[in-house]
Amino acid sequence: METTDILDFLRQKLKPKRLKHVLSVRDTAVSIAPQYGVDQQQIELAALLHDCAKWMTNGELLTTCQHHQIVPDLIEEQNPSLLHAKVGATLANDRFGIIDQSVLQAVSVHTTGMAKMSTLDKVLFVADYCEPNRPYPGIIEVRKLATVDLNRAALEVARQKLERQLVTKCMIHPQAVATFNDLLTQIS
Ligand code: FE
Ligand code: FE
Repeated sequence: METTDILDFLRQKLKPKRLKHVLSVRDTAVSIAPQYGVDQQQIELAALLHDCAKWMTNGELLTTCQHHQIVPDLIEEQNPSLLHAKVGATLANDRFGIIDQSVLQAVSVHTTGMAKMSTLDKVLFVADYCEPNRPYPGIIEVRKLATVDLNRAALEVARQKLERQLVTKCMIHPQAVATFNDLLTQIS
């Protein structure tokens, strides 16, 4: 798969700061992937595509959902920006012809995670959170964990995301809670 088309699209559509984030997620994910046996091409594609719908307005995200039979749940209706993950997967398929379901799933769940994430999903979930441009105070801990234990790193990401949502009084998506619970059962 040629990544040139994807990069051209991202350069056109994303603001410079977002593009920098995406490239940094790619670099972080590609560097973590080998030790967990994740395919380099799959993780590179998933990382490059994960925020490919981030340029859309809430209205555009909701319209795209209508066109693709994606029915937003109550929390996504309140906070349509959550939909950039699912819409991103749709766009990856539609616009770039990606049919690899593992790549599409990793893109689709990168924000909330989900129960029973694949290793590919976890690498993207963690890299998206801890790439060096992120301002979150807890990322040093996550970056450290990412090089030694992917499940613990993903659990820490899920925990920090929930904590921030509680502190800032943001709605919590049930799938984010399911992610946290599931990862708890997976750590050794
Ligand atoms: Fe995102
Ligand atoms: Fe992102």
